[in-house]
Amino acid sequence: MSTILANACISGQSDSHLAPLSECETFGCRLHPNIIEPLKILADAAKKQGFKLKVFSGFRSFNAQMSIWNAKSCGKRAVLSADETVIPHGSLQGWDLVQAILRWSALPGASRHHWGTDIDIIDAQAINSDYNVQLTQKETQEGGVFEEFHRWLTPWLEDNPDVGFVRPYQTPTNADDNAFGIAPEPWHLSYAPAAKIFEEQFDLDFLAQIIAGSDILLKNEILENLPEIYNRFIRVSG
Ligand SMILES: [Zn+2]
Repeated sequence: MSTILANACISGQSDSHLAPLSECETFGCRLHPNIIEPLKILADAAKKQGFKLKVFSGFRSFNAQMSIWNAKSCGKRAVLSADETVIPHGSLQGWDLVQAILRWSALPGASRHHWGTDIDIIDAQAINSDYNVQLTQKETQEGGVFEEFHRWLTPWLEDNPDVGFVRPYQTPTNADDNAFGIAPEPWHLSYAPAAKIFEEQFDLDFLAQIIAGSDILLKNEILENLPEIYNRFIRVSG
């Protein structure tokens, strides 16, 4: 039997489902209580190989996600294309801009980071303190700062499925660009046993209500296309 979750927790408007800060202290961010022990197992395994696992991003609230969204909508923050180059602000409008933002950023209310079950991780050992972490595929690929970490992480995740971590964003970007989805994010891990419960109880009508009542930019374009957004950018397979 699954726990019944409040819509406010699923959509990042409440943090009452998270462990107290004192329990997440080692990781420096708020997390779901069930992810803490598995995360220690992963961090210890990484440490044995000379890596220093750092949670770059854990829980994010609806408002925090909306700040990112609005900054990208109005050009204060870069919107990247599939190949991680900056799309000049003003070159995309309306629904096209919404889709471009969604490639790399979740819609507020529909981010897996609202749940505390999902994290973005880096190897703090690989970078200097003044390095500006981008969370791009380039960083994880050949020649990138986190290449070695990911070369270790990928087989580790495959060899230790019982620990419970999966990479929910693995779908490759559609080459013709007509119906692309979320770009692959190898740094984003989800603690599946806990995240599954949030996924199952996600409510699109509730999301429509909170988007409608928020100060989000591109609101009409989002609301008009919400079912398509759900299919291409929220729902994940597996
Ligand atoms: Zn993430």
